[in-house]
Amino acid sequence: MSELRKRKLARLRELRRLHPVLLGRGVPLIGTEQLAQSMALLFRDCLENRQNKRRVLSAAELAHRLYDAGEKNAPSSPPLSCKAGCDFCCNAFVSVLAPEALLLAERLKAAKTPVEGSIDAFKARAVALRGLDQRARLSGRRVSCPILDRHLCSLHADRPLSCRKHSSFAVEACAAAFEGEEGPIPSHAGYHTIGTTVSVTFRGALKSLGYGTALYELSEAVSTILDTQDALRRWTAGEDILAGVQTDTTTPAHLTSTIEGLARAIS
Ligand code: SF4
Repeated sequence: MSELRKRKLARLRELRRLHPVLLGRGVPLIGTEQLAQSMALLFRDCLENRQNKRRVLSAAELAHRLYDAGEKNAPSSPPLSCKAGCDFCCNAFVSVLAPEALLLAERLKAAKTPVEGSIDAFKARAVALRGLDQRARLSGRRVSCPILDRHLCSLHADRPLSCRKHSSFAVEACAAAFEGEEGPIPSHAGYHTIGTTVSVTFRGALKSLGYGTALYELSEAVSTILDTQDALRRWTAGEDILAGVQTDTTTPAHLTSTIEGLARAIS
């Protein structure tokens, strides 16, 4: 084994030493490059665990667990305006990573009472949203996320990172955005940071294994998966079953280069 390879393996061992800290405490509000690499490696190890046929779903669950633990350690003061039954943000463009979309599709298939009665109803609402960007969604179309059921998220435990990290200190600002007005929504910067850290490190791990790192529009991605035979196995094997699904193209350049750097660091 070359010296370079030996040094690389020693470095990965070092990064793995931080895994128990991450799993215990979640994502810290102020991270380091080493911690970010450790987190990306945690995702990679999960995605590479061939004993687990559902490892892609486990990786999505891991992302949500790391986020939730991090959020718990950063309580909000003053309290957020967000509460059960308030669903303005569920009318916006919602983005998901492919593993998160696969997890939502699995949960929908397993649900005893699928959203508003049937998977067909989910797909019908997804068709109504197809191709609509943020502006079009908030300009009178009023077709909410197909997972929303009577003003509640019917898959709340498995909602994607983009929903988890969304917060607001002013419900009036959310209502104004819902009416199509442009303006800032005062939100918890820490929750945004934690969510972005989890998402970027997860994408770094996906990239290091040759998977795509796109953020897909939730309803179209989940519908496509529901319509695809053997979707989980095929995506895990590297087939791009989500080709053509609308994506969120707003990832800033500095995050793209962070994702690439993480992928290099853990490969
Ligand atoms: S997944 Fe749940 S929280 Fe997110 S937009 Fe849909 S209904 Fe709302």
